[in-house]
Amino acid sequence: MSRSATMDPPVERMPVMFVGHGSPMNAIEDNRWSRGFAELAAGMPRPRAILSISAHWYVDATYLMANAHPRTIHDFGNFPRALFEVQYPASGHVDLARRVSALLSEERTGLSTDWGLDHGTWSVLRWMYPEADVPVVQLSIDRREGPLYHWEIGKALAPLREQGVLILGSGNIVHNLRDAFGRMRAGNTETPAWASRFDADISQALLQHDSAALQSIWPHSDHARLAHPSPDHWFPLLYAAGASNDHDTVRFSSAAFDWGSLSMRNVIFGQDD
Ligand code: ZN
Repeated sequence: MSRSATMDPPVERMPVMFVGHGSPMNAIEDNRWSRGFAELAAGMPRPRAILSISAHWYVDATYLMANAHPRTIHDFGNFPRALFEVQYPASGHVDLARRVSALLSEERTGLSTDWGLDHGTWSVLRWMYPEADVPVVQLSIDRREGPLYHWEIGKALAPLREQGVLILGSGNIVHNLRDAFGRMRAGNTETPAWASRFDADISQALLQHDSAALQSIWPHSDHARLAHPSPDHWFPLLYAAGASNDHDTVRFSSAAFDWGSLSMRNVIFGQDD
């Protein structure tokens, strides 16, 4: 046996995760949500790399971030200076970006150095891997495409799980900021029935591995359109669920609402308690 074969730890099959990232403030506040992010990394094999599909890289193409040293993007306004000072200096992984682009077919993907790590990624990862010592690649969401396209890409990513890559979708299962901000302003943080219902329906569909329901519910139901006036925070779940299979266990954490209607539920596929 070669030296490297004896030195390298075996590659364990990785779970797939979807995280509800919520407010950018979760990046710097010690609260129930940020503690929930930290707990996601506990008990999981250490990934060799992370492929993050963030709601906040929502553009007219499917790109792989090919920066060796991605910058930390502060893609929000009106937040305290402390949040703008956060840096998450994880390295990129250009070889992984190339491999994923080939896996998804080079005609429909491209490498891009225009982006970096946005808060959908770093507000979560700085709790999961505070040392920023796991390389990260982001995959953009093509906003011109429908649910099935995103599901199929997730499915095509599944073999990466055998290579020690953590596939991480980052959005929110219910994300209607107009509603949430309205509730905040009115001092009313009661969760509306449509939000509870959509969150419960999605949980049920995930537990039942009901891919048909997950692929079609948005935009074909009224409560789905209320939950997601725009699907940017919805589609990351389709990547994660697409990369899972019927044999994966499905577990939830932080299954509650922030700001009344913002679902903070995290979904963990393929990892036992
Ligand atoms: Zn967001």
